[in-house]
Amino acid sequence: MTTAQKKTFEVLPVKRDHYAMIIGGERLEGTNVATTYNPATGNPVATYAKATKEEAELAIQAARKAFDFGKWKKFPVGKRARTLNKIAGIMRSRFQELVELEVLDSGKTVSAAQGQVMQAIEDFEFYAGAIISHRGHVNNIPGPFTNTTQKEPVGVCAQIIPWNYPMMMAAWKVAPALAAGCSIVLKPASPTPLTAIVLTEICHEAGVPEGVVNIVPGSGSEVGNYLVEHKQVDKVAFTGSTPIGKDIMARASDTLKRVTLELGGKSPSLIFDDADLDAAVYGSLWGIFYNTGQSCEARSRIYVQRGIYDEFLEKFVAKTKKLTLGDTMEAGTHIGAIIDEKQLQVIDGFVQSAKEQGATILTGGKRAQVHGFESGTWYEPTIITDVTQDMDVVQQEIFGPVVVVMPFDDEKEAIRLANDTVYGLGSAVWTTNHGRANRVASAIQAGIVMVNSPLSAFPGTPFGGYKQSGFGRELCVETLDLYTETKSIVSYIGEKPLNLFGIE
Ligand code: NAD
Ligand code: MN
Repeated sequence: MTTAQKKTFEVLPVKRDHYAMIIGGERLEGTNVATTYNPATGNPVATYAKATKEEAELAIQAARKAFDFGKWKKFPVGKRARTLNKIAGIMRSRFQELVELEVLDSGKTVSAAQGQVMQAIEDFEFYAGAIISHRGHVNNIPGPFTNTTQKEPVGVCAQIIPWNYPMMMAAWKVAPALAAGCSIVLKPASPTPLTAIVLTEICHEAGVPEGVVNIVPGSGSEVGNYLVEHKQVDKVAFTGSTPIGKDIMARASDTLKRVTLELGGKSPSLIFDDADLDAAVYGSLWGIFYNTGQSCEARSRIYVQRGIYDEFLEKFVAKTKKLTLGDTMEAGTHIGAIIDEKQLQVIDGFVQSAKEQGATILTGGKRAQVHGFESGTWYEPTIITDVTQDMDVVQQEIFGPVVVVMPFDDEKEAIRLANDTVYGLGSAVWTTNHGRANRVASAIQAGIVMVNSPLSAFPGTPFGGYKQSGFGRELCVETLDLYTETKSIVSYIGEKPLNLFGIE
């Protein structure tokens, strides 16, 4: 093919039997093929080309070439924005297929997938707008000098994402990096690579030049590590668990890569006795059981002021028992499957150890038998009380539909308990007292505070953690700073040469 010929990327159906990786603008098969399953049924969904170090190397070289010699970063910003909007437009036109593929690959419910795919689309639209006004400054400095700063794309970005929001996490990563002019090597999580592969295809279809977005579905320990340690990768953006995040930060230090980490959480809800109780009950229900609790900002610790503790629990348990598990393609199903058997055993391990330590399981507490879906991995929505702050079930991220509820006496104690964790991602405050809402919001050590709200993640709102929940913010204009370097350009504009040593 000569360079004069414009390559067109062959459009394949969203749902199909096999998915190739994409490197340098081409679909590529590797030496390995893997199968991805539907956790709700245990059935295989499709096969995909599984990348090894060799393909990771090819992807890095393709991204490097696209960044160093390609035109994406040189495009007028309006042209990049237009391409992002085009990606969003194609996604919109295939919304239903993308939703169904996400449901099949992840075991989540169709209603959850609809919201997440829609947000992924809106992320591209958001960054298409945000990049237009992302620019440098003119700074006032003394004397015959001028100073301007310019924002330059950081380079080749390795983006490593988890399985809980496969499409949405891909969008959170790819959209701002593309907007900023970077090149990308995306590594999806092994259980859920399909929608990220399709997103990469759509990027090509929309006109993103070859090599700018590459995808290498492969194992974290092999492909992930390879990307993190590679000398020609400039940045690693990771979303996943805190232990892996620590490992990545250590490995990335040898090359001093730019690192952003969106990690785990153990987010608290504080429910005060002046709260709108129904709102707090509904909000807490969503806060923990949305996405089957497989959410980094799941409000998995609920602290309730003692005067309303019993009443809250009574309502909360009653509503929880009404949540339905079942056909994930049914609009009315509330709770989807657990991603795999291993994760289900981890969840159950936490619950059983809490029980052995004297905790009370008010509802749930075991594997769920779901009629018609007996071969899937399902767990009952679980509420645990009579726990102490030092128990594992209170301190550690479970990443499943399991919540602990504890009483507190006053505002000071509530804040102390909320902050008594290594994590600091989400948090919620339920109160009708405006002063209290603001005092508590300021005192909580977390990147996100939801005041009387079950929702927090909209395109434009910063998302990210304090403490061991990581650093960097996604989903917002500030993210663009994390995909760019700031270059300071200082010019001398005086007439006489500057002879600073004063040499005759
Ligand atoms: P994980 O840490 O096991 O894996 C995340 C990704 O990292 C996967 O793609 C995996 O293959 C890869 N990986 C694993 N080992 C690696 C290594 N040594 N080097 C490089 N890459 C490696 O997490 P998970 O189980 O997929 O996802 C759940 C976790 O993600 C939870 O802790 C959750 O809180 C977190 N999460 C955080 C956010 C956030 O925005 N803060 C959002 C979603 C999920
Ligand atoms: Mn799968």
